[in-house]
Amino acid sequence: MGSQEVSGTVDWQGKHVTVAGLGVSGLPAARALHERGALVTVVNDGDDERARAQAAELEALGVTVRLGDGATLPPSTELVVTAPGWQPDKPLFLAAAEAGVPVWGDVELAWRLRGDDGRKPAPWLAVTGTNGKTTTVRMLASILRAAGLRTEAVGNIGVSLLDAVVGETEYDVLAVELSSYQLHWAPSLRAHSAAVLNLAPDHLDWHGSMEAYAADKGRVYEGNTVACVYNVADPATEDLVREADVEEGCRAIGFTLGAPGPSQLGVVDGILVDRAFVADRHKQAQELAEVSDVDPPAPHNIANALAAAALARAFGVQPAAVRDGLRAFRPDAHRIEHVADLDEVRYVDDSKATNTHATEASLAAYDSIVWIAGGLAKGATFDELVIGAAKRLRGVVLIGADRALIHEALTRHAPEVPVVDLDRTDTGAMSEAVARAAELARPGDTVLLAPACASMDMFTNYNKRGEAFADAVRARADESA
Ligand code: ADP
Repeated sequence: MGSQEVSGTVDWQGKHVTVAGLGVSGLPAARALHERGALVTVVNDGDDERARAQAAELEALGVTVRLGDGATLPPSTELVVTAPGWQPDKPLFLAAAEAGVPVWGDVELAWRLRGDDGRKPAPWLAVTGTNGKTTTVRMLASILRAAGLRTEAVGNIGVSLLDAVVGETEYDVLAVELSSYQLHWAPSLRAHSAAVLNLAPDHLDWHGSMEAYAADKGRVYEGNTVACVYNVADPATEDLVREADVEEGCRAIGFTLGAPGPSQLGVVDGILVDRAFVADRHKQAQELAEVSDVDPPAPHNIANALAAAALARAFGVQPAAVRDGLRAFRPDAHRIEHVADLDEVRYVDDSKATNTHATEASLAAYDSIVWIAGGLAKGATFDELVIGAAKRLRGVVLIGADRALIHEALTRHAPEVPVVDLDRTDTGAMSEAVARAAELARPGDTVLLAPACASMDMFTNYNKRGEAFADAVRARADESA
C-alpha cells in the first residue's frame, strides 16, 4: 500500500492490515476492514478477560487476534491502523517505519472510508484544543441542528467517527472532536473548516515536546477549504493557521471576548457578533445571540460558543439558527454544572477540570470562591493558577494524593487564604470536603469543585468524583430541608 494511494479509495480485498489495540476504536476498525475484504490481524498488549471476550467476538468473524504482544509487527503487514493513544515510539511503529508500512489512526481510517460505499460524504467541521472540545462540538451540533441540518457530534463522544462515516444514517455535515493523538495519526484529513480553541501544555509525555504537541494540533487546519478558526487571545493558535497549507480562498477567522475586528467574531455590549461572514466586514457586524443565551455564560464558555458559531457560519448557517442552537444547548454533566444553592451559597461541579488550564477558566468565572481541589497532579505546577485566583479565594479545601503541591503554591502566593488539608482518600472524603467548604463559605460565595488534577487516586474517573460531590451537596440540602 504505497503513497500513490494516499488520496484515492483503497481496494481492501486481500490487503494485510494490522489493527493495533482492541477497544473503543480497534473493534469497529477491525470489523469495517474485515467487511471490506481485508485480511485483518489485531494485536493487543493486554490479555485480560475483557480483551479475551472481544477477541472471541472478532475471531468468530474470521479476524485473527494476537493477545499479549502489541510490539511485534506481523510479517505480511501492508498497513497498520492504530488506536490513537498508542505512543509513537512503540516498537511496533518503529518496525513499521523500517518496513515502509504506513500507519493510520482511527480518524485517518474514517476519513479514507468516507464515501467508499458510493454515498456523498458529509463534510467535517473539526474542533481541537487543550480544553473545551467536547463542549464546542456539542454546541456546534446544536446550532447545525437548529439550521435543519442532519448532523451529529462525533469523535471522543457519543457516536464513534467511524460508525458515523460507514453507518446507515446519512448526515449533511459532522461536528468532529479531535484529540492531539488522533491528529498525529491522521495525515490526509482535510476538514471543511476547523478550530483550535486554545493551546496549553498537556500530554507532553506522549508528544515529546510542546512543539510536537502544537504541530499535531495544527494538522487540523491542513487543507481546510473555507475557514481556519483561531483564538485571538491565544496567539499560538493563530501561528498554527499561518503555518498551515490550506486551500486557495480559505480564510483565517478569529474569535475574541472583546469587540471583533474585521474577519472576527466577538462580543459587544453582551451580544455575540459576527464581523467575518457578512457582506462588508469593514463596516458591518451581524448580531448572533446574547451572552445570556449561553449556558453557563462564563467567559471561557462564551469563547467556546463563538468558536462553534464561527464554524457554523463558515458552513453557511444563518444567524437565527446560531441563536436557537445556543439556546437549546445544555452542558454535559460535571462541566461547571450548577448542583444546588444552599444558605445563599452556590455549589458548582466542574470535576472535568482535570488540568490547570481548565481550572483557571473555571476559577475566572466566579467572584468569591471556596475552591475544592486536588488529586493526581500529572506533573503539573500550581503557582500561576494560584497567583491568578488568589484574590477571589475565600478558602480552599484540598483532597487527594498530590494536594501538598497545591498547598505549597497557596503558602507561597496566597498565605492569607484559609486552607483545609484533608488527609483521607476514602470514599467519604468528598462529604467531609463539602462540609468543610460549607463552613468556609459566606452568603453569595460559590463552592467550586475544580480539582486541576486527575481523579484516579480516589475515584474511578471524573464522573464518579463529580457525582460524589453532587451527592454530598444534595445530602446537605435534604438535611436542611
Ligand atoms: P475537552 O473535551 O477539551 O476535555 P470539555 O468541553 O469537556 O473539554 O471541558 C473540559 C473542562 O475544560 C471544563 O470542565 C472546563 O473547566 C474547561 N473548559 C471548557 N472550555 C474551556 C476553554 N475554552 N478554555 C479553558 N478551559 C475550558
